[in-house]
Amino acid sequence: MLKGKNAIITGSTSGIGLAIAHSLAEQGCNILLNGFADKATISGLVSELQEKYNVRVDYSPADMTKPNDIADMVAMCDRIFGRTDILINNAGIQATGPVDGYPVEKWDSIIAINLSSTFHSVRAALPGMKKRNYGRIINIASVHGLVGSENKGAYVAAKHGLIGLTKVIALENAPANITCNAICPGWVHTPLVDKQIEDKAKAEGLSIEEATNKLIGEKQPNKRFVEASQLGALVVFLCDDNGSSITGSAYTVDGGWTAQ
Ligand code: NAD
Repeated sequence: MLKGKNAIITGSTSGIGLAIAHSLAEQGCNILLNGFADKATISGLVSELQEKYNVRVDYSPADMTKPNDIADMVAMCDRIFGRTDILINNAGIQATGPVDGYPVEKWDSIIAINLSSTFHSVRAALPGMKKRNYGRIINIASVHGLVGSENKGAYVAAKHGLIGLTKVIALENAPANITCNAICPGWVHTPLVDKQIEDKAKAEGLSIEEATNKLIGEKQPNKRFVEASQLGALVVFLCDDNGSSITGSAYTVDGGWTAQ
């Protein structure tokens, strides 16, 4: 069903975004990658996806803190592939610490990258989607869009906001056959989480293995990381025709985290 569709995936040089790029390319989607990495890594990712799945792949260097870059990214997809059918808002960062004393510039960049970038990309992509009466928008939120955790004020605020924005986009665009959903993962083993494991090990005097087990054990009842490829499979389902009646939802993929 997705053969020949064109997808933008923000923050797809690593982790969950890259796994989603593989899942969509495997279904025949052309992919516009985005995110930070050195030139050699980016050209390696472009060639790997092209060769493995025989689809068109390109890269946008847009910085998700910059609204003009984000508009350029959507315009680039329209220009090189002809249109934007699928938009995956995945780019995200994390920086932990209590609200009192939390650095103002960290608050601003988490809100910009994890929340406002979705407003800017969706705003740019919607006119084309509406004209063609088709669109799939998926926002990678988090369990932290549904529940809180200490020391994650900016992240929790951004992800809760992202789920709210998802619902409004879904409502405003339902008649135009444009769906908008959020995916809310628990712990997924990516560079974003490695940093938190390292911080935990340092703070609590633990080995990396002990810190990993403790981190997973505290919140995720099945005590296993979510696989990034499992999120890719859910994205494919939501983009496919089987997902056409699902809109405004927030799907947890969290090993039971939010059931507690
Ligand atoms: P990651 O660090 O592996 O990937 C983040 C991606 O975002 C990278 O490609 C990075 O280059 C890109 N990025 C960062 N700042 C950017 C900017 N200013 N402009 C453009 N790209 C930028 O992290 P991940 O774990 O794969 O996270 C992806 C998304 O999943 C994030 O939104 C994160 O909040 C969410 N998430 C992750 C987990 C987890 O456990 N890993 C759980 C829930 C939600």
